[in-house]
Amino acid sequence: MNKNLSFLGLTGILVGAVGITSIARAEQPLFVAYPADGYETTATQVFLIGTAPAAGEVTINGQKIARSDAGHFAPSFPLQLGENIFNLRYGNQRLKLRVTRTSAQSPTPVGTAFAAGSLTPAMDVARLPGELICFGAIAPPKATVAATLGTQTIPLLPQANSVELPPNSAVLIQRDQPTPTAAQSYQGCTALPGSGTVIYGSQIITGTVIPANSPRQDLGYPQFQLTLNGQTVTQSGTGKVEVLSPVNAQVIEVTADPGTARTGASTDYSRLTPLPKGTRAAVTGQEGEWLWLDYGGWIKASETQVLPNAVPPRSLIRSVRARQAGDWTEILFPLQVAVPMTVQQGDRSFTLTLHNTTAQTDTIRLDDDPLIDRLDWQQTSPQQVQYVFNLKTSQQWGYKLRYEGTTLVLSLKHPPHMERSLKGVSILLDPGHGGPEDLGSRGPTGYPEKEVALIVSKLVRDRLMAKGATVYMTREEDIDLYPNDRATLINQVQPTLAISLHYNALPDEGDAAHTAGVGAFWYNAQAHGLAVFLHNYLVERLDRPSYGVFWNNLALTRPTVAPAVLLELGFMINPQEFEWITDGDAQKKLADALAEGIEQWLRNQFAVGREP
Ligand SMILES: [Zn+2]
Repeated sequence: MNKNLSFLGLTGILVGAVGITSIARAEQPLFVAYPADGYETTATQVFLIGTAPAAGEVTINGQKIARSDAGHFAPSFPLQLGENIFNLRYGNQRLKLRVTRTSAQSPTPVGTAFAAGSLTPAMDVARLPGELICFGAIAPPKATVAATLGTQTIPLLPQANSVELPPNSAVLIQRDQPTPTAAQSYQGCTALPGSGTVIYGSQIITGTVIPANSPRQDLGYPQFQLTLNGQTVTQSGTGKVEVLSPVNAQVIEVTADPGTARTGASTDYSRLTPLPKGTRAAVTGQEGEWLWLDYGGWIKASETQVLPNAVPPRSLIRSVRARQAGDWTEILFPLQVAVPMTVQQGDRSFTLTLHNTTAQTDTIRLDDDPLIDRLDWQQTSPQQVQYVFNLKTSQQWGYKLRYEGTTLVLSLKHPPHMERSLKGVSILLDPGHGGPEDLGSRGPTGYPEKEVALIVSKLVRDRLMAKGATVYMTREEDIDLYPNDRATLINQVQPTLAISLHYNALPDEGDAAHTAGVGAFWYNAQAHGLAVFLHNYLVERLDRPSYGVFWNNLALTRPTVAPAVLLELGFMINPQEFEWITDGDAQKKLADALAEGIEQWLRNQFAVGREP
């Protein structure tokens, strides 16, 4: 996996200089694979990944550095704000690197002014009448700050002891705690005009007119005022505020297949259960290009279309029926309108929640099933029906959701029919990265992750096929494939298991010289057991270090049609581990262990499934 985007940006240049045909162990002149000369980062330290012939010394700024037996190095150095110079020397060979550290702090104000880009909301915002809307700014300490919206002035008060959260990737180097911010933040909130009660025709509310048949009323841009030492400055906000009409609700239908639902109004927010094409919901808020839907999730407007003259979608549900479709049990939920849903997988349970739905259910047909023991349901709130599928085994093998008209079809996959060895089982292997643009991370010699991922994947493929499994590969050559194209292949093939094979790197703050080992990544609960098992199996059987097991939102762990796991088999940037990664005999032993681990895990499930 490439945690650090800067790798991607640099690779194109360095391939030309080094040539990816260079053999990992061949002696080569003093060489730095990372970072590139002129690199910029906000990190407080950076590692230098490179190599030189094994004999002799490498010095950086006059200081001798530690190297692996093959001559590779990965020392970390603190960075001062601004330019940092690294002079590398091996014998009479010299290299000079300039690395610039820029500030990661929030922008600070200069003089009597707001900090650049600090006024919030930064984007256009729309909310229903009566809802809270909050304004924020960063300004010098001891200032008087307010925001004016229409005729209303909202005082913004200084917030004490503000902290910032580091990015998610900070957990990969155990630096994920909040950090205090130096900048002084001012914040204040107000309720939007109107009480949320029914508005007829064109009615004036607190100086605001919501015209009849209009879905929204524009309140304009907030004006921010800052007073300090008798001097006042005014600045217009960058996001205007609108009030949504509660009677002329906007209703959307999901046009993407599926639509990506999130917990908030940007891709920084977490994913919720995807919404199948055709799902309908009313819009209860908007921020920039993101719509807040009435069941709680957010979706990009571009993944939807507006339905004219629609009322907020609400559905009844009466009967529910299951049917067999090959390796899948399909459960049909006939609805009046395609409503949003949420899925949660538990141990021996699969829970589907239908939003904006009210039950009139008297009869459900569910025969004895290969997977489902019993279906329980209840109306958990006036407009929310929850279906709990109690399963016969703790392991789940995949699920799909789609709308056929207004009938929701939930497909749950049966356990595989495993015969001798791995006959009856299909496994999709996904060698990470590939092609001229996407090398993945690179080792000290410049040797790319994409190459070793393919070599080891082919070795694993051969072993799984010898055991009788049907094996699919997302790529068998050095080609470009987007992560989403790989996930699409998993959805098309619907294998028993999907496994992505990668080698790791770290964010700049990481300790490349002392971080090593196997990492396993999962997302859907059905993949957790496989991720833990393969991680432990490789660590114990091959006596490798453990990097850890991570719940991780990745394109290749998100597919739901099968347990999908992404493995990081070692760190390209760790000098010692790189030698193991590129060793032909070690690669064969790794492939043996991985194929046997997959078989062992499947056999365990099969045995468990047979238990009375
Ligand atoms: Zn990778």
